[in-house]
Amino acid sequence: MTRRLDYDVLIIGSGAGGGTVAARLSKLCGEGVRIAVAEAGPFYTREDFNMREPDMLGMFVDRGAVPSTSFEIAVTAAQCVGGSTSVYTGVTFRAPEGLVAGWASDFGLPELREDDVQARFSRIETEIDAHVPGLDYENENNRVFRRGCEALGLPVKQFRLNIKDCQRCGFCNLGCPYGSKRGTLEVQLPEAVARGVELIPNCTITRVYDGGAEATIGGAPPGTQASRHAPGPVQFRAKIVVVAAGTLSSSALLLRSQLANLSPACGKYITLHPALTSFARMPQPVRGFDGFPKLYYTDAYSESEHYYLETAFYFPFITAKSLPGFGPEPTRFMRSYDHLACTIALVHDEAEEHNRIRVKDGQRVLEYHLSDSSRQALVQAQRRAGEIYFAAGALEYVSLVSDRFSITSADELASAITERSLVPGKVVVSSAHPMGGCRMGGDPRSSVTDAFGQVHGHPSLFVADASLFPTSTKVNPYLTIMAFAERVAERVEARLRHF
Ligand SMILES: Cc1cc2nc3c(=O)[nH]c(=O)nc-3n(C[C@H](O)[C@H](O)[C@H](O)COP(=O)(O)OP(=O)(O)OC[C@H]3O[C@@H](n4cnc5c(N)ncnc54)[C@H](O)[C@@H]3O)c2cc1C
Repeated sequence: MTRRLDYDVLIIGSGAGGGTVAARLSKLCGEGVRIAVAEAGPFYTREDFNMREPDMLGMFVDRGAVPSTSFEIAVTAAQCVGGSTSVYTGVTFRAPEGLVAGWASDFGLPELREDDVQARFSRIETEIDAHVPGLDYENENNRVFRRGCEALGLPVKQFRLNIKDCQRCGFCNLGCPYGSKRGTLEVQLPEAVARGVELIPNCTITRVYDGGAEATIGGAPPGTQASRHAPGPVQFRAKIVVVAAGTLSSSALLLRSQLANLSPACGKYITLHPALTSFARMPQPVRGFDGFPKLYYTDAYSESEHYYLETAFYFPFITAKSLPGFGPEPTRFMRSYDHLACTIALVHDEAEEHNRIRVKDGQRVLEYHLSDSSRQALVQAQRRAGEIYFAAGALEYVSLVSDRFSITSADELASAITERSLVPGKVVVSSAHPMGGCRMGGDPRSSVTDAFGQVHGHPSLFVADASLFPTSTKVNPYLTIMAFAERVAERVEARLRHF
């Protein structure tokens, strides 16, 4: 039998967007406002993060890879309490100056102001302990990248990270066992729950409508926290519904719900920051697993070649799957795992209508094609990363976009790494930054929500996550998502006062 649950506000998803909305609205609980966060994924706490890849795959949507229909790219996102902030690295960027003003002018959003968003960045950074860590955080993986950039005269910059009492164990992307990563699991959700917001894990919303939503509550997987609700179908009634299910799910949920007058733009203009990792074998031990994984980036090629190069570290399985082919060569290379340095290129892709989420037979489908410009950027980035590593003294360099397993000198980079080797299905480009699908805009024919995340034509339905962005942020996006979610929360609060 379907149970009915009544709230004033139902928030769908507990990641960067949903967690922030929950924290901001939680002050209303003291006035008797009833708020729930429905999260499809399980509730892992820091005690559950055991740093083992096979055990932690349950935190991810489809065990960590949602491929596009073209098999050109696979997206990673989390499905657990805290959303992708439970598995992110904590690299903290403000949206580049001018981006918000550009959205305001290009998409008919005069209510968006750069100074408003900048002020939110400052406040949120303080709340979540974002800061530039000391150089004692520099491990050999990061040192190699810095030295290579310096040798080539490239600007090398340090990330701001939102971490506290970090033990530098390197396993951020499998959940932080020390609670040092200050994502929504550790900051916004505990604050919200302490003030009276109800968190319902294992609760998948299947349909939304004006005034409520339908859901299925599942059992808690072993070793995770259960809610007070028994498994089974549920009907939520809520004055306001906030969809913050992430780019992979928010537009799919709206499309599945067959809302009246839903914009034809729903699901479209997805951007992903297509990414490729590459590896260098160094003469000295690197031990990338020892220390904080990401400290530096270079934006030297952002304007001219459209990507950032960032340091990275990956666990054995991810590293092995990111190498070309099978057999003796990758096996030999993996034996040097403790001598491997790693970098990731993140491409600034354009928002294009044909890159979209669709719903087919009730299932989400991701249609995404790498543009010529993104393909060129990926190839060029692999060459540039190789130059950095050889300048730092690498013995060999391995890139997926190469006609040979490994490259042993900088002179080979241009001829070995070419677009011909970027074959869909063979080279799986990855993404951890899906954005768009419910883009903000002034015109309901070409946008899904207004500047405050309200779905056009539906005064009690809001979106508050990465899917709001009309274009990519170019930089790692979580801080921008939180800032926009805060704006949505303020509008929801104002709207509640009218009921
Ligand atoms: C491995 C990794 C590393 C990253 N590192 C960084 C970084 O260092 N810096 C940075 O800026 N960004 C990083 N990101 C990206 C960043 O984490 C995301 O951009 C951000 O968390 C997205 O916020 P969101 O609210 O849109 O979605 P999410 O945080 O993904 O949250 C969406 C939530 O909604 C839930 N949900 C989905 N469908 C439903 C449904 N039907 N019913 C109920 N709940 C549902 C999901 O389970 C999920 O928990 C990283 C991402 C990954 C995967």
